[in-house]
Amino acid sequence: MTEVISIANQKGGVGKTTTAVNLSAALALEGKKVLLIDADPQANATTSLGFHRDTYEYNIYHVMLGTKELNEIILDSEIENLKVAPSNIGLVGIEKEFYKNTKERELVLKRKIDPIKKDYDYIIIDSPPALGPITINTLSASNSVLIPIQCEFFALEGLAQLLNTIKLIKQTINKSLHIRGFLPTMYSSQNNLSKQVFADLAQHFETKLFKVDSDSYVVIPRNIKLAESPSFGKPIMLYDAAATGTKAYTNLAKAIAG
Ligand code: ADP
Ligand code: MG
Repeated sequence: MTEVISIANQKGGVGKTTTAVNLSAALALEGKKVLLIDADPQANATTSLGFHRDTYEYNIYHVMLGTKELNEIILDSEIENLKVAPSNIGLVGIEKEFYKNTKERELVLKRKIDPIKKDYDYIIIDSPPALGPITINTLSASNSVLIPIQCEFFALEGLAQLLNTIKLIKQTINKSLHIRGFLPTMYSSQNNLSKQVFADLAQHFETKLFKVDSDSYVVIPRNIKLAESPSFGKPIMLYDAAATGTKAYTNLAKAIAG
């Protein structure tokens, strides 16, 4: 059974793209067939894997517009089992198109994913930092949502709004949608605030944290290698196999793939 997981949080800079890219790569290196769909007009996931505007012609905008199928835009990555559906800044235009006369506009992405779903074990979708029409589409197309939480000040601010949106989508468009888990990101052990955010998460959502084993959780450390690897067009595992970020995202992939 293919699992479609959206990486979502309407806050920017919390580690969504870093998680989408490195979780996808880690799952692929575990032998899973993975498609990473970049649904953010900023196209950071696309560039993080070494694709630039002039290396692909069509992107997720054309798919959501209805002029291309996913199979016509998918690119091969450096990792054999990992394919990428790229994005481009042009995707910002989709919201305007949706308001013209798109029927069931919240299901546009799901309808494009359904025919190719069987080709993959996991489809990971990177979402934009907003709760607008694109994120409604990514959540409507997914079995579950993974929520990165930055271990910094204001970490849980806005979370109620996100959880409400997820609940609403579950009640109306996508009954099977559930929260796959909360992922603490940019954790630094020397920082008391990090510890506090983690403690808050564990208190409210203990069962929704990913586990390494029976007594430890998956926590993504603040790791400079994770910030550097996108500029080399590589996921962390290919950039620095010994980095703490490599270990952490590999643990996340193992927690998800079982
Ligand atoms: P989002 O997609 O939620 O906006 P990003 O994944 O782009 O967030 O991360 C925001 C910035 O923080 C990026 O520059 C990224 O490289 C950096 N970053 C993300 N996770 C980490 C981490 N664990 N350690 C260090 N830097 C990180
Ligand atoms: Mg992003």
